[in-house]
Amino acid sequence: MTAKESASKLSTPIQYVKGVGPPLEPCFHTLGIRTVKDLLFFFPRDYDEAAPRVAIRDLTVGEWAWIQGTVGDIQSRTTAKGKKLLEAVIVDGEARLYATWFNAQGIEKILRVGESVRLGGTAWQDGPYWRMTHPRWKRGNLEEEQETDTLVPVYRLTKGLRQETLRKIMRGALDAYCFEIQEAFPESWRQERTLLEIAQALEWIHFPPDRENLEQARRRLVYQECLVPRLAAEAARVQEIAESPAIVLPVDARLDARIRRLLPFDLTEGQNVALKEITTDLASEAPMRRLLQGDVGSGKTAVALYAMLVAVAHGHQAALMVPTEILARQHSQRIQAYLRRSHVRMGVLSKGTPGAERKRLLAAARDGEVDLLIGTQALLRADLGMRNLALVVVDEQHRFGVRQRTRLRAAGRSPHLLVMSATPIPRSVALGQFGDLDITTIQGVPEGRQPVKTYLVRAEQGEKWWEFVRRKLREGRQAYIVAPFAQEKRTEYVADVESLFEKLTNDELSSFRVAHVHGKMATQEKLGVMEDFRQGNYQALVATSLVEVGMDVPNATIMTIYHPQQFGLAQLHQLRGRVARGSHAGYCACLLTEASVAARERLENFARVTDGFRLAELDLKARGQGDVWGTRQHGAPKSLLIDFSRDANILEQAAADARQLVQDGAWEKPAFDRLRGLVARYSSRAAWSWLSG
Ligand code: ADP
Ligand code: MG
Repeated sequence: MTAKESASKLSTPIQYVKGVGPPLEPCFHTLGIRTVKDLLFFFPRDYDEAAPRVAIRDLTVGEWAWIQGTVGDIQSRTTAKGKKLLEAVIVDGEARLYATWFNAQGIEKILRVGESVRLGGTAWQDGPYWRMTHPRWKRGNLEEEQETDTLVPVYRLTKGLRQETLRKIMRGALDAYCFEIQEAFPESWRQERTLLEIAQALEWIHFPPDRENLEQARRRLVYQECLVPRLAAEAARVQEIAESPAIVLPVDARLDARIRRLLPFDLTEGQNVALKEITTDLASEAPMRRLLQGDVGSGKTAVALYAMLVAVAHGHQAALMVPTEILARQHSQRIQAYLRRSHVRMGVLSKGTPGAERKRLLAAARDGEVDLLIGTQALLRADLGMRNLALVVVDEQHRFGVRQRTRLRAAGRSPHLLVMSATPIPRSVALGQFGDLDITTIQGVPEGRQPVKTYLVRAEQGEKWWEFVRRKLREGRQAYIVAPFAQEKRTEYVADVESLFEKLTNDELSSFRVAHVHGKMATQEKLGVMEDFRQGNYQALVATSLVEVGMDVPNATIMTIYHPQQFGLAQLHQLRGRVARGSHAGYCACLLTEASVAARERLENFARVTDGFRLAELDLKARGQGDVWGTRQHGAPKSLLIDFSRDANILEQAAADARQLVQDGAWEKPAFDRLRGLVARYSSRAAWSWLSG
């Protein structure tokens, strides 16, 4: 069979697959499955244990099992808290088990009294009764089914398509077409990495004989899922170097000393290590594509500034892009202070920049009369066109989408690109989610920093906390108070900045100078308040999470967070980072209410762990794969298979292999023809089809 024949078989419309036909075709289209190939790459979202099946009286507490019985009774009621609760009694001979579902839609339509059903779950005992909460369910009798498989795929479904039907269709399709998928990896290369053949991986991802086979299948597919985008990035880079190389910006000892003299502090070991990687990139005509990350307060800005000054020293331009006006203002103030003794011409461009000034600045930037341009996303829209742009830095990157990044790149001629992530990201996630970026991590934070003491404060301890806050304010420190909403919101509790500001100024902080700020205020007013707070004119600032990003007021050492359950771990960590900026010890309190209980574990982790990377790992474990820290890029495809808490090694290997393959040219050999085909397809963004070739 030729590759061409295979390809045409794989692109057979789904309607002609056995068991589908015109009646089911629309269901498959709804699921995004149009061809045989789409079907084979429609992976299970989960797997059922087909065994063991246990009689109710033989259940073991805490162990997962299937039981089989008849539905004896079903009752639904509403709990005191307004939750809908459904309880079914399953009878198996003399024994019975109570199954409970909360807010489950439609289960009562499946479980009918007197009918046979099987439930799978972890059983527990409540006095004399066996119980399962939210068990998996299945109508019908277990005996009627084949029991050879130990794991059964569970697919995402759509109206009109049943799980059992889809399984049958998949089984048939695998048997008929699985071997049409061309192996993209050369045999020896695949074996060196102990990766399954693609056909075997597909068979086992759908119908794994056991967990280990499933893991092998997943590993093969995850490797490929990571390798292909990496290869695309490496290959694009090679092409870019050939077509429009970046400007080479070497750093010698003199330049290095000149730049360091401008900074008011010595760089930390971690910053120096990071800089080494960055300056190596800058000295090459391969455009830098690097993600710089570090814990909150690790000093990413200074590293970025160093890089920008390298560009400027060579007579070129650099641009720094930030997500908010406040950050633009703050960065420019800080950088301006550093650059007092230099000749660097700096410009600041943001939404608030008046029309005439903006025009002048843009013209100056275009003509090369501005060396360093700082601005918000408005910069992007303004079609930069800086004549000598050699480096673009994007701060707090997780607010920037992939598409914006691409646009930015197109704005100059292959400028070097450095993006800084706002929050630490586990390396595996960074590798998986930022497929086109190299990663540099700043280890540690500047010396003398003390970890922020974090407290979970129960309502009855509130007065004690405020007593502490007042004492610190009298000592001359400043405080942030953060609430989830800007203006009054109809919730059971006060959770907005305006009401809270009123309450605090009348009560807890009545003898202090307090200001408030939130996103609904006019930009100039907002900036004015923040600036006044920075200069110490206010002692306390009541704010929304707007202060999360970038606020850098070393004298502010106390953070009080109202309704912390409203914030994600990353946000909480950012907020806490606001009070760890100077040499004074920082304190952070999460004020708990009844509503915080649901987020108890997250909050406890937050209080216990101050290292951002460890916190990110915990977040990852708690949430499994998916959107860690909420950093998934806008428009980036969601991973089908990657589990970031387990796949670090395989992702690392794929990244290293991609680099190696392109750099030593092996990639051009005929043995890699098919892989190159996949990469080409990925580069043309043909959805997920790149995975299957
Ligand atoms: P982040 O990595 O969170 O963006 P910043 O770049 O804002 O951190 O730096 C945090 C604070 O640490 C700033 O006030 C900055 O001036 C200061 N800082 C950065 N590097 C050093 C250093 N090497 N020594 C002392 N202070 C530093
Ligand atoms: Mg920063």
